[in-house]
Amino acid sequence: MDLGLKGKVALVAAASKGLGKAVAEELANEGVSLILCARDSVELQKTCDEIREKSKVPVLGITTDLGKSEEIEKLYQSGMDEFGQIDILVTNVGGPPAGIFENLSRQNWENSTNLLLTSVLDLTRLVLPQMKERGWGRILNITSIASKQPVDNLILSNSLRAAVTGFAKTLANEIAPFGITVNNILPGYTRTERVIQLAETIAQKEGITPEEATSRWTSEIPMKRLGEPHEFAALAAFLVSERASYITGSSIAVDGGWIKSLF
Ligand code: NAD
Repeated sequence: MDLGLKGKVALVAAASKGLGKAVAEELANEGVSLILCARDSVELQKTCDEIREKSKVPVLGITTDLGKSEEIEKLYQSGMDEFGQIDILVTNVGGPPAGIFENLSRQNWENSTNLLLTSVLDLTRLVLPQMKERGWGRILNITSIASKQPVDNLILSNSLRAAVTGFAKTLANEIAPFGITVNNILPGYTRTERVIQLAETIAQKEGITPEEATSRWTSEIPMKRLGEPHEFAALAAFLVSERASYITGSSIAVDGGWIKSLF
């Protein structure tokens, strides 16, 4: 299937590793020019070099803390200076701290709201006018299965992903007449560095093996395994493509069947 993505420009946030990187790689394979950001400049430049080398597309890496609006503004401006347009926005950020309500402070809520919700608003606010002008655009938010089925001990993620979902659904209706779609893609347990490290931390703490820690998650997944980042990225590429022109306001999981609800 030709996704019709060749020659488009995408800004992929938090893309030095994990799911963001996998999405960037998939888009590069489709001939999309990239603006990537992350906080760690060494890792980010390594990722940019790797993708540029492999896919021969232009890749711009801008070190950015997505918790800071002024850095997001700089990221957008650098991307516009380099490419003149941004057709696709993929929002993403590192996960918030785990914890139950009584163990989290006001500061925890403020920081996580800033990262998980405000960064999405900031990025969207910036890219929208030029998308509207051209009558074409794709906004895809990487959220979590937690937005459909709350995960124990993750009250920050459960709450803030739901806020992003409400925002995205409303915005999708507002800007649909301009040829711009807004969707959410919900990762389930996927084998990224973060998840591997989490399994190692649990294993050390509880005196079990990382495999045993992982199997606690996989036992609840109908497919009985973790997802792979490239399986997630395949849907992301489709959702931002020309081919997904009539899909908007949707939240689609890539979770091996983990979510138990009908919709
Ligand atoms: P990861 O830790 O592997 O990668 C996170 C990326 O975000 C890195 O590139 C990092 O540099 C960047 N980043 C972190 N904080 C940043 C900041 N303040 N500013 C700029 N960049 C920042 O994580 P991942 O596993 O790829 O997860 C990505 C998102 O998906 C997270 O929000 C996570 O909670 C969510 N998620 C992941 C899974 C999973 O199983 N991997 C499941 C559900 C939800």
